[in-house]
Amino acid sequence: MTVRMDQLSWVEYERRVRKDAPVVFLPCGATEQHGPHLPLGTDALLASALCEDVAGKIGGLVAPALSYGYKSQPKCGGGNHFCGTTSLDGQTLISLVRDAVREFARHGVTRLVLVDGHYENQWFVTEGILLAMRELGKDSQLEVMRLEHWDFCTEQTLASVFPDGFPGFALEHAAVIETSLMLHYLPNLVRIDLIPDEPPADFPPYDMYPTRTDWVPASGVLSSAKGSTAAKGAQMAADITQGIAAAVRKEFKL
Ligand code: ZN
Ligand code: MN
Repeated sequence: MTVRMDQLSWVEYERRVRKDAPVVFLPCGATEQHGPHLPLGTDALLASALCEDVAGKIGGLVAPALSYGYKSQPKCGGGNHFCGTTSLDGQTLISLVRDAVREFARHGVTRLVLVDGHYENQWFVTEGILLAMRELGKDSQLEVMRLEHWDFCTEQTLASVFPDGFPGFALEHAAVIETSLMLHYLPNLVRIDLIPDEPPADFPPYDMYPTRTDWVPASGVLSSAKGSTAAKGAQMAADITQGIAAAVRKEFKL
């Protein structure tokens, strides 16, 4: 039995929403360069794969991902100057999230979990949720959880995945976390042989507009993905999916 909303008929979707009051997961990603070794859809693909795992554990449904995100920033996504990176204005993303949340409420969904896989989306997604909630009003039954999936990696796991020290989530763009998770979920989309071996990017503590593109490694990778393995991906995926499932059970009293 699929957990994917886009594979259900409206009749079956309505039946499940009415009968089971399922938690609905809304993955949120980006279309963004992820170096020469990972696909442009990595953020949405990973958010969707993690959501499908969690939905399988708790009997939830996964909505189609929002696959475009807010503008890639040099220090956490390489920047918006790469060919293929296809970004939204903040206002567009806010409206996209607001409209989607309002539609799920109209369907009768009462528990929605927005799983963000693109760092730059955070506050625009939050604003979309808040505007939808304000519009739905106090009598709405809808409750929404919002999260960034990497925050569920435990310190213990990060210590074992990064024996030489964790560079931080921002510089982890297209690096060991995303590459290992992709090797776990979608290994056919990873080109291990093309992983660049460069030192981590070194940014000053300010930003410049227009972007100083020469600050950003030409490969688009902010710290090396060498050392990525499917086993590390499986370890992080276990943390993330168990952590999200536990949070959902707690907050939605399942
Ligand atoms: Zn990413
Ligand atoms: Mn991203």
